[in-house]
Amino acid sequence: MATTLVRGRHVLVRAELDGTSRLLSNGAVAHENGVVTDVGAFNDLRRRYPDARVIGNGRQFLIPGLVNAHHHGRGVTGFQMGQPDGPLELWIQRGMGRRPLDPRLMTLYTIMQMIRSGTTTVMFNQSSGPADGTIPEAAATLDAFVEAGMRVAFSVAFRNQCTVVYGDDETFFSGLPHDLADSIRRIVRATDHPFDEYLGLTRGFAKQHAGSDSVRILLSPQNYQWADEETLGRIGDAARTEGFGIHTHLVETAYQRRYAERLHGGQTPAHRLREVGFLGPGVSIAHGVWLTRDDIGILADTRTAVSHNPSSNLRLHSGIAPVLDMLGGGITVGQGTDSNAINDDDDMLQEMGLTLRLHRPVGIDNPPITAHQVIHMATLGGAELTMFGGEIGSLEVGRRADMALIDWDRISSPVLDSELDILDVLLGRARAKDIDTVIIAGDAVLEDRAFTQLDEDGIREEIREALKGPLPPEVAERRRISIEMAPYIRRFYSDWDVPIGPFYQYNSVS
Ligand SMILES: [Zn+2]
Repeated sequence: MATTLVRGRHVLVRAELDGTSRLLSNGAVAHENGVVTDVGAFNDLRRRYPDARVIGNGRQFLIPGLVNAHHHGRGVTGFQMGQPDGPLELWIQRGMGRRPLDPRLMTLYTIMQMIRSGTTTVMFNQSSGPADGTIPEAAATLDAFVEAGMRVAFSVAFRNQCTVVYGDDETFFSGLPHDLADSIRRIVRATDHPFDEYLGLTRGFAKQHAGSDSVRILLSPQNYQWADEETLGRIGDAARTEGFGIHTHLVETAYQRRYAERLHGGQTPAHRLREVGFLGPGVSIAHGVWLTRDDIGILADTRTAVSHNPSSNLRLHSGIAPVLDMLGGGITVGQGTDSNAINDDDDMLQEMGLTLRLHRPVGIDNPPITAHQVIHMATLGGAELTMFGGEIGSLEVGRRADMALIDWDRISSPVLDSELDILDVLLGRARAKDIDTVIIAGDAVLEDRAFTQLDEDGIREEIREALKGPLPPEVAERRRISIEMAPYIRRFYSDWDVPIGPFYQYNSVS
């Protein structure tokens, strides 16, 4: 493949947590065979590569491709499919009432949305489908990433307990009216997979994609309370002996933290995971909203990373994660949308803007998060979480040629003071609609705002066609069951001690 130059009025070569990010004015990046081969002033590179194709008009902002560090990618979102926002413990059950959609279409749709906001790599966690289709759905989903050429860290979520509430399934079911209990038992059983089968599936994917530049396979118990401790220990062992990464959810809500504390004399889920040998390098958790100070120390000591998903935490009433303390403690933090971005569109730029504004403690002397930190999270931080550390996340020689060009004319129009920090401006004003071109592994997958390989209108039309008409009876039935269960779920948690402040309670306080 011949050399291509990508030029920008501004080029972000590498975002640094300490504010010393490397930026170029009127710069360019040369790439060949999907790898960055040169970085410097555009005029110098133009002289060195006189025959190279040039992408970019010289007025745009060139950034490293963004990494969405936590996503489930239902494509057409749960919200669009009739799952309204609500507290996670209720919301998750409402997911049963979503219509199934062809996994290839679903994945291509979510890929298009992500690429449109400059995302080139995603941590994709496949959760069980509404019906029993986890295994074929996972295979078709992974194939769609390969088809679209998007970099992916792929895992299938595993769960073997606490399926409806954080407690023993049978005890909970036996307190329900008979019909409802029978129905929910049937639904839960349909998504049941023995652990050995799950491990075999993950090993199969790993074998299929061994040596791939664009696919990493991870193990993923869905959360501390959703797998028993023996299994969590086995997952930790398998990860270390077979070289898998691990991605899981952790203390997304106060109830999840209380579950472990009630069972284990006040020990938090993070304590328990360290105890069973689960945490370590290559392990990442999503959310971490209700971590304690001790927990932050445990994650830092074990080099366990975190994905911050602020929109999801707001939409599902989970709270605000202590990201400044995580960063201060030396934890690697990434940024994700969790298929629940604030405008329901997986816009990573907007998600980063939200992170920038959310972590601004009151008081003149309390330092806020910086744009440099947030962009680091969404690039180099995400690279670590997705097991592509050292390969992506910056535009340095030897890294994969993943990048995005942003329309700076729109952002700086009609005027922009030249003394502003340019990264503040990027997160303060840019949104997905400003993304002009996206390059993954040297291929321009989006150019002048149009997909070069994916048929966007065709995919939208196929989805419209597949989902038109009334709700299929089995979906309507699952939806009815999920709604009928809500009061029993509320009752289950009614005497759990979760913090209720005098006003709003958004954070862990210990
Ligand atoms: Zn999630």
